[in-house]
Amino acid sequence: MEWWSPSVSPAVGRPSFTGYPFTLGVASGAPLPTGVVLWTRLAPEPLNGGGMGRGAVSVRWEVADDDAFARIVRSGSVDAVAAWGHSVHVEVEGLAPARSYSYRFIAGDEVSPIGRTRTAPAAADTPARLRFGVASCQHFEHGYYGAHRHLAAEDLDLMVFVGDYIYEGAARTGDVRRHRGGEARTLTDYRNRHAQYKTDRDLQRLHATVPWLVTWDDHEVDNNYAGARSESLDPSFRRRRAAAYQAYFEHMPLRASARPTPARMVLRARHDWGRLARFHVLDGRQRRSPQACPPAGRGGGNMVDDRCRELRAPGRTMLGEHQERWLANGLRATPEGWNLIAQQTLVARAAVTVGRRRRFSSDAWDGYPAARDRLFAAIADSGLGSCVVLSGDAHCAFVADLKRDFDDERAAPIATELCGTSTTTRGRPQSRTDAIVRENPHILYGESARRGYLVLDVTSERCTARLRAIADAADRDTEVVTAATFAVDAGRPGAQRL
Ligand code: FE
Ligand code: CA
Repeated sequence: MEWWSPSVSPAVGRPSFTGYPFTLGVASGAPLPTGVVLWTRLAPEPLNGGGMGRGAVSVRWEVADDDAFARIVRSGSVDAVAAWGHSVHVEVEGLAPARSYSYRFIAGDEVSPIGRTRTAPAAADTPARLRFGVASCQHFEHGYYGAHRHLAAEDLDLMVFVGDYIYEGAARTGDVRRHRGGEARTLTDYRNRHAQYKTDRDLQRLHATVPWLVTWDDHEVDNNYAGARSESLDPSFRRRRAAAYQAYFEHMPLRASARPTPARMVLRARHDWGRLARFHVLDGRQRRSPQACPPAGRGGGNMVDDRCRELRAPGRTMLGEHQERWLANGLRATPEGWNLIAQQTLVARAAVTVGRRRRFSSDAWDGYPAARDRLFAAIADSGLGSCVVLSGDAHCAFVADLKRDFDDERAAPIATELCGTSTTTRGRPQSRTDAIVRENPHILYGESARRGYLVLDVTSERCTARLRAIADAADRDTEVVTAATFAVDAGRPGAQRL
């Protein structure tokens, strides 16, 4: 307990549960060459606050070479406490690099499902290949996680999730599935919402198959919030945000460095895959300036054009000053290999002319032009030839060349953006996406009609992205196809369609 000390009763080693406690499955994340985070949460009544009462429970964890757990290589015990929703985060150390392991948890007489995870390669090694998936936007009501079922079969080293893990909204009728309860506002609400999402067997399986790197977007808290400002300008929003952040931490395989205080949560992180690739995971919500020119009397995003003077105010930030500097320093320190920037919203300009003016969303990087200029300067000044930005939020697959001046068609790209389509959340009509692609020549591809994910194969020479699309999010057994394949050559920013 870093920031407060509840009166914890001694952990019970032989507890009795009102039901099976591992209803939310298991997960792993944040892999290092010799360690990984293991996660679970005890929740015999997952949709009703967890059902664990006030006491602490001792949970045993085991990491093994084999699924039969005949060769256990690391094990230990940790207390699951009520103050953290009886969640369990174990930072395992002393593992071997570039190896697969099995893991499980034991509480009382109950044993969790078995998870599999993988450590990162040794820092000095250059692995032949890194294969990872990118997913975002898994609105529970809009469909089943058929995309995740296919992702679990893609032979991945790693999963990267770039936001909208839950949606906070109230239950609505007429969709494929239904949220439980009203709009999430309290810690209990957010716990129940995360738990409802986590009860999905395909999401559980994907967590149990590979380690994840995670960042959030807006819906983990509230639609289009920015920093401490909510869409409805709710004066008590900081308290709501703290509850949402705590529930997020409780349900994700994150290190203790991400454990929130009531004031903040440090989600930004760097993860190396040997010398082949470095992930810079960004938080573009917690510290951002409010969106410029919001609808009258409200906060949140809007469609704006260049009549919005506030847009170009130089002090406006997407990442916050500290994180901007952290990113710039990190990019400068990684001259070789691939720099993979995992973040939430679309970076490329995606403006469409209405009347005689270019209009765009104020919630994505288009709404933070000065901050985007600084991001591009940081990439360009660090001399990186192999930089790929990963994004979500758009509910649309986009492939874009990132340029310091989007109006200069002959300008050389400085990086490539790969934005994955949503897992389930519905997108805009394809006709509107076609208009965006037509008017923004740096956007090479746009498809919003289908749901799916990205699979990236990274080698020293090339980064290849397959844009995978499922046929129907309303069908649990839906098929998957490759909608398009793009490649970026090392040292040569810009995507080519294969
Ligand atoms: Fe979304
Ligand atoms: Ca979003």
